[in-house]
Amino acid sequence: MNFKRVVIKVGSALVAPDGKGCSGKYLLSIARFITECHKRDKEVILVSSGSVAAGRQLIHHGSPNPSIAAKQAMASVGQMQMMANWQRFFDTPCSQLLITHGDLKDRRRFINIKNTLRMLLENNILPVVNENDTVATDELKVGDNDNLAALVAMVSDADCLFILSDVDGVFDSDPRSNSDAKLFSEINTIDDALYQMAGGTSNKIATGGMKTKIQAAEKATEHGIETYILNGSNSAVFDKLLLGENPGTRFVAKQSALKAKKHWLKHTLKSHGSIVIDEGAINALLNKGASLLASGIVEISGDFIKGESVSITAHCDSRVLAKGISQYSSQDLVKIKGKNSNDFDTILGYCPSKEIIHRDDLVLMEKAE
Ligand code: GLU
Repeated sequence: MNFKRVVIKVGSALVAPDGKGCSGKYLLSIARFITECHKRDKEVILVSSGSVAAGRQLIHHGSPNPSIAAKQAMASVGQMQMMANWQRFFDTPCSQLLITHGDLKDRRRFINIKNTLRMLLENNILPVVNENDTVATDELKVGDNDNLAALVAMVSDADCLFILSDVDGVFDSDPRSNSDAKLFSEINTIDDALYQMAGGTSNKIATGGMKTKIQAAEKATEHGIETYILNGSNSAVFDKLLLGENPGTRFVAKQSALKAKKHWLKHTLKSHGSIVIDEGAINALLNKGASLLASGIVEISGDFIKGESVSITAHCDSRVLAKGISQYSSQDLVKIKGKNSNDFDTILGYCPSKEIIHRDDLVLMEKAE
């Protein structure tokens, strides 16, 4: 278990098995595992499905294919049941985050989600994320919680993703009809052949979500996040994980999550403006591994919104020293530059963050990071 922060995705088949609402049948061993992770100083974020399945019996829909409104009502009532079901397994508080694809695409909301998750983890709270099914329609949705979990792993800077369902992992053929089916314990390359193999089986449970699980693994591993598909209905799987063994299919990340993130910040994100800093801030950034504070900012140029990427330049020679994601818009920064974060509230009326650019969201340009 050499991860620091893990996103654990739990599928509906584990939260609400047998189509009879929420159950603790499988969640007990998952919750025990999470508690064990906490004891070992690992941070955990849960992405839990099951709201629609949990609410299904509580909404009279009179049809085998419920309407969108009926499904959204199921999600609404089921989400409460699902959260209550999780909370009863923990002494520490759980928190709920309901997000949509639109929230993750919007830079401002993206940074809000990131800050909220960071704050929850700092306070030893277990965040439980689900898609906001009651408001999202198809075009706004991620659509499945496997892909949502990969996006949550990215936004939270996790270095590991566990996708738990009721299958052991990825097989070379359908294990139900072929007793010789072989489980892949490690996958290094995700290609069309793999998608076809996973999609080609007639195993309803295995394919029920194998495609989206592989998509999630592809997204996550590209960002340096090790991904595992595991059978969460088998408690022995968790014992093995705790012993450092791989009980399912592991998708190998090509580089570390930190490296991938720094690379993304440095080379992929376009700068929307620049922040000029003084000698003290230059020293803090280059030599002390510090975040960028407003007190060291002397000038702002360009027009950017909160959550966009900006360059950080030296006041003396305009060298670009670093790049990072700004917690504030350029308009706000003009007002708070040079100030202490205690004054943000008085000047702006709010203070979403004491840092202007958090160290985790910053990369130095001249140092190999
Ligand atoms: N958000 C859906 C729910 O809670 C689940 C989507 C999925 O399982 O992929 O019911």
